[in-house]
Amino acid sequence: MGWSVAYWLKCLETRKGALQVAVIEKDPTYSKASTVLSVGGIRQQFSLPENVQMSLYSAFFLRTINEHLGVVNEPPIDIQFNPLGYLFLASEDGAAILEENVHVQRDQGAKVSLLSPTQLKKKYPWLNTDGVAVASYGLENEGWFDPWALLHAFKRKAISMGVYSCHGEVTSFTTSSTELLTPERELTLSRINYVHVQMPNSLENQPVECSLVVNAAGCWSGKLAEMAGVGIGSPNTQDEIKLPVEPRKRYVYVWHCPDGPGLACPTVIDTTGTYFRREGIGGNYLGGLSPTEEEEPDIQDLKVDHSFFQEKIWPKLAHRVPVFESLKVRSAWAGYYDYNTFDQNAVLGSHPLVENMFFITGFSGHGLQHSPAAGRAMAELILEGKFKTICMEKFSFNRFITGEPALERNII
Ligand SMILES: Cc1cc2nc3c(=O)[nH]c(=O)nc-3n(C[C@H](O)[C@H](O)[C@H](O)COP(=O)(O)OP(=O)(O)OC[C@H]3O[C@@H](n4cnc5c(N)ncnc54)[C@H](O)[C@@H]3O)c2cc1C
Repeated sequence: MGWSVAYWLKCLETRKGALQVAVIEKDPTYSKASTVLSVGGIRQQFSLPENVQMSLYSAFFLRTINEHLGVVNEPPIDIQFNPLGYLFLASEDGAAILEENVHVQRDQGAKVSLLSPTQLKKKYPWLNTDGVAVASYGLENEGWFDPWALLHAFKRKAISMGVYSCHGEVTSFTTSSTELLTPERELTLSRINYVHVQMPNSLENQPVECSLVVNAAGCWSGKLAEMAGVGIGSPNTQDEIKLPVEPRKRYVYVWHCPDGPGLACPTVIDTTGTYFRREGIGGNYLGGLSPTEEEEPDIQDLKVDHSFFQEKIWPKLAHRVPVFESLKVRSAWAGYYDYNTFDQNAVLGSHPLVENMFFITGFSGHGLQHSPAAGRAMAELILEGKFKTICMEKFSFNRFITGEPALERNII
């Protein structure tokens, strides 16, 4: 998200060189960043029009990536897009919602088909359709791509356009404040004047003067917001409302099954929420399942719980794809979802009281694919004071104050 915003700011600046943009990153190896630990999926099948719109734009962006992010005298970008679609399965209980979602998606211009169990069985003979009432399948612009390639491409392009890459950890902010008397109450507005950056292998804390800060710290963005005073004000005031984004650990397992679904295997989202897709062409697959609230694992480290696969995932996979009965797990990893506990959706826009902090976070498992569109929206808001291409008002911080969630039903 950070590199996407930086790229878009430089792309949309009206006078060349007018903006000075720095991306501050504490870990340039990205060892714990969600982006590189994600599974690289892109789909049009969301329930909120804004999310469908973002996906549509992102698919276009990825398909024409070299026109956007190509750099003269550098090798072309190969995003490794596998356009094999997402297949959502719904039980009798979920059928009406799935169909409603498909109407929203089609209204926005996405090409999604509905399949009966009989059609499903014909198209995918390896699938057990027991308990499936209806399915939806994205006919274009869905599949998966290489997250590293996208991150690297944004970064390389942004740097080529003059963005500074700074290795260090943001540890605090210096702010100034003004009192504002409104008819209802007195408000304290604050501004960030300096970002303090802890340089690597050094005791030095470098103050960086700034006119505005974009908080793109992923699952750590709640913590970063707190450093600027967000959510730590007195009780029953707007100041006490936190940015509700936190790390939630999600496991991804990779298994081998030589007789498994063939090359046309899409990303399948089972009625249980379990997902899987092909990984390469050597009979490997990857997949996972979000735990229930009660099962949420400890987030101290990124260790994988293998019993979660054995007990919670494998039985569901083997039910849906009987040949998976004989699969062998080959490897696994874990990553953090940038989880918005309020409504599992993006937070995009400025803070009402910390005037010059902007958020682009909380995507809760669909941020990689939305980074091209979200970065553009953030740059529009910063440069023009409003969203120009896709209206993202629904994702503003204000919803945490008014208590109106922007619920996305298709969270995986
Ligand atoms: C297992 C898994 C599967 C996923 N699958 C998909 C998928 O299929 N499709 C999809 O679209 N999305 C997917 N996601 C979600 C997606 O990865 C995220 O929504 C997206 O990558 C978030 O990007 P980001 O830039 O906000 O966060 P990150 O990639 O986490 O980047 C945040 C960066 O901020 C840095 N940082 C944090 N705090 C500080 C600080 N104080 N100072 C300096 N730097 C700091 C971190 O080091 C990090 O590099 C998945 C996520 C996981 C974990």
